[in-house]
Amino acid sequence: MRLIWNLTSGAAGRRIPALVAVCLLLPMLVMVGAVVRSLHARDVAALESGLIEQAGALATVLAARIESADALAAQMTAGALPAIPDALRRAAADSGLFRRVLVGGSDGSPGMGPAVSDAGDTSQLRGSLLISAPTRTDVNAAWLARRARVGNRDVLVYFELASTWLWSGFEMPLVLDAHSSVLFRPATFPAHASGVVLAQVGAGNIPGAVAPADYVPRLTWQAEGREWRGALAPVRFSRAIVSDAPWLIAVAQVAPGRMAALAPVRSAVLTVALLAVLLGALLAASVGRRYRWALLELQRALLGVGTPQFKPVNKEARLPALAELANVIDESGARIQEDLVALDTLGEIDRLLLGATELEPVMDAILKRVTVVTRCQTVGIALLDTDSLALGRVFVSTHDGQPQPVTRVEFDLDIVSHLASSEEGVTIARCEEGRHSFLKPMLDLGSQFFWVWPVISNERLVAVLAAGFAVAPVQDPRFARHGSEFAGRLAIALSKTARDEHLYRQAHFDPLTSLPNRLLFRDRLAQELANSVGSGSRGALLYIDLDHFKKVNDTVGHAAGDQLLQIVAQRLRACVKEGDTVARLGGDEFTVILRNVSDPEYASVVSERVIEALKIPISVAGRDHHVPASIGITLFPDDAQSVEQLMRNADGAMYLAKNRGRNRAVFFDRRLMANRFDPTQSGLHRALRRREFSLYYQPQFNLADGSLVGIEALLRWESPRDGLRPPADIIPAAEASGLIVDIGGWVLEAACSQLALWREQGVSPGRLAVNVSVEQLKFAEFPRSVRRILDKHGIPPDLIEIEMTESVFADEVAGGVLRQLADLGVRLALDDFGTGYSSLNYLRQHPIKVVKIDRSFLEDLPMNPASATLAETIITMAHALGKEVVAEGVETEEQMQFLRERRCDHAQGFYLAHPMPAAEMTKVLQQRRDGPAVERLREVG
Ligand code: C2E
Ligand code: MG
Ligand code: MG
Repeated sequence: MRLIWNLTSGAAGRRIPALVAVCLLLPMLVMVGAVVRSLHARDVAALESGLIEQAGALATVLAARIESADALAAQMTAGALPAIPDALRRAAADSGLFRRVLVGGSDGSPGMGPAVSDAGDTSQLRGSLLISAPTRTDVNAAWLARRARVGNRDVLVYFELASTWLWSGFEMPLVLDAHSSVLFRPATFPAHASGVVLAQVGAGNIPGAVAPADYVPRLTWQAEGREWRGALAPVRFSRAIVSDAPWLIAVAQVAPGRMAALAPVRSAVLTVALLAVLLGALLAASVGRRYRWALLELQRALLGVGTPQFKPVNKEARLPALAELANVIDESGARIQEDLVALDTLGEIDRLLLGATELEPVMDAILKRVTVVTRCQTVGIALLDTDSLALGRVFVSTHDGQPQPVTRVEFDLDIVSHLASSEEGVTIARCEEGRHSFLKPMLDLGSQFFWVWPVISNERLVAVLAAGFAVAPVQDPRFARHGSEFAGRLAIALSKTARDEHLYRQAHFDPLTSLPNRLLFRDRLAQELANSVGSGSRGALLYIDLDHFKKVNDTVGHAAGDQLLQIVAQRLRACVKEGDTVARLGGDEFTVILRNVSDPEYASVVSERVIEALKIPISVAGRDHHVPASIGITLFPDDAQSVEQLMRNADGAMYLAKNRGRNRAVFFDRRLMANRFDPTQSGLHRALRRREFSLYYQPQFNLADGSLVGIEALLRWESPRDGLRPPADIIPAAEASGLIVDIGGWVLEAACSQLALWREQGVSPGRLAVNVSVEQLKFAEFPRSVRRILDKHGIPPDLIEIEMTESVFADEVAGGVLRQLADLGVRLALDDFGTGYSSLNYLRQHPIKVVKIDRSFLEDLPMNPASATLAETIITMAHALGKEVVAEGVETEEQMQFLRERRCDHAQGFYLAHPMPAAEMTKVLQQRRDGPAVERLREVG
């Protein structure tokens, strides 16, 4: 990263060309160095041989000078010389070669000249003897000594060589003799060079006699920070000049510096170097430009690695040199991204697992995300049914998220046990029809190759997770791992929901009957109560207690008792609608919560149904048992707005039902509970006595033409203390006390009397319908009393319609009474049809003329298709049996329209007319006589 950053940043952009330039420059410098080294060596060698040559040349010159001086000296000393050789002295001085001439003794001592002894034994001397000896004026003067005849003596004549001549004419270097005596040293000859030369000579390293002829000591030294070279050459004489210490010529010179060799090519080298640097930089810059963009692209991709936003390297950035790097970045980026997505998904699922109790969100998440993580075409989750190993459902999802139907499949037991024992995922390349039934839905969506992971919970295969591909997937171990992780989460979700469900059921349901228990019941009641308060709807609570249940336990044992309770539970459930709650509080106490009870009557209808259902004997332990029920009914939110109060109400009402002789339902009534309102026998007697009862009348109309076809008489209690009371407040108590017979008698009498009056007034409504209780019908003399009343008021029997509920069919006596009534000529109507036994057989067997469809079937017409079908069926069925059909409780125009279309004969309901007192009804009838009375029907028709 840093490298790429540096490479692409500005500073590095300059550094690359520099680097390239240096790279070019370096070998060039090395080469120049090598050349310089060799040139320098050559120069030094040349210097050295030059010095040797120079020294040799000087030695030859010096030898030639001395030889010519010797020749002159020989000439001047030839023959006998006068004793006082003045001429000789003059001649010598005139020659300019000699400074002076000294004549020595026979022993050779010249007096002021060098001692002969210095020249050793000179007696044998034929030529000249070269002596170097100090004089008073010179450090070392050079002498030529010769034998000569001076006077009569053989003496040595010493010729001192004139230094002005000897050393003149050219730059004579250092001259010394073998005894290290310096004969001549020019001022320019450096002292350090003299030192080196003298040391050499002192050490005996002298060319000449002792050494081979070509021996030249190599003199090398450092001084004044520079390198010096020197050479020595012997002065050799061809004439017979001898010397006790041979003379030497020494030359010295500073060796040339290394760079000196470069001097001639310096500018060329510099130019070439400069060119190299320039070219290198240009080249690097042009290559750098190309790579800079590619590197920036790599950097971008690299920065994205490890983030969910990773994007692979751009194709154009894949320069040959970078292709491999780009591949590595792409591969690792994609891999990390996949891992991140997988981790993310697993995290999401884990959150769901922690939060939700339901399986669906987890399944949804897995189905949705596995396609992303594994890049598969389809994902399937096959859930094995909990109660069967062989059956299951397959949920499928495709990579494009199209919703797929759930498929039921039959599992191959062989593959189930195979998967249950495989630790990790397995691949399936060829899907076999029966064996891989759970892959079929994915196969149908085009997948050919599958990865399959078992989902094991409690050591049992509970599901199979499968990923489907159109082409064979790469065998990636990470992929297998991800699949296993998903399968693991699924296993947790499955076991969690199974356990949660189990715990929930344990906590909320009665294990014996599987009905909601007290806890769930209270919860639901609180909910319904809140709903009803919020939405303005009404509900009812029924408290059901089995009468004489204890007897069952006592006679046939608890196990049989339990069995009986289970049957009771089933019967109770059958009495209510979907959505209503039947619960068992414990023992033989049950409750029912009814929802949407728009009319309290519905609650009593359901109670009646319950009572009738429990009247049928229950066969347990080889015996028939009768366990009738006492029911307390309370309405909410009318009666109370708290669960506790509602429970007290229902319980109180239930005890009233028990008190009134059991096997009945009693509505809660606040006044009744407070003992202010007395529903007992004495209370009703009083009302009857005081003529507090009255009849209200509700008209019925022909749906085809809107004409009034009849009137129903409905009982009311005008209590001076509590106002107008509906029959629901009277009838149950009257029935319970048996007073119903008297009250029912009064109703019939009053209704017929009113009808007679209307007939007299010429406003006869046609038929008059009167409700009778099944308790009345149980009295065999009932038909006779009807007869008597009809006769008394002179009413033709066919003007009277007697309404009864289906419960009449359960009683044999009542059934017989029906026949007698029919024989009388009165019309029989079956009230509240559809809420009781509703058997077609009863309709066929008994002389029923009219069927009144219960209001509850009309409630959600025509919106609810189920109610619509039911109402339609009742109409068709009744017509098929030759009955007239009256629809009760028509409250809307839509309901009426619906009924007309279905050819229902008559209608009665608030939409057409409310029940009204006799006086009001009379007015309506009078209006009708004077003109059509039913505007509404006409409007609609
Ligand atoms: P029912 O025989 O089915 O009478 C119809 C009931 O529905 C009446 O209630 C009436 O007021 C009501 N009703 C009529 N049209 C509509 C409507 O459009 N919407 C609604 N929500 N209700 C409507 P009521 O008068 O309270 O009578 C209730 C029940 O009491 C009667 O049901 C009948 O079974 C019984 N009953 C009434 N009078 C007597 C009687 O003299 N003797 C006996 N034994 N029972 C009676
Ligand atoms: Mg009725
Ligand atoms: Mg009715």
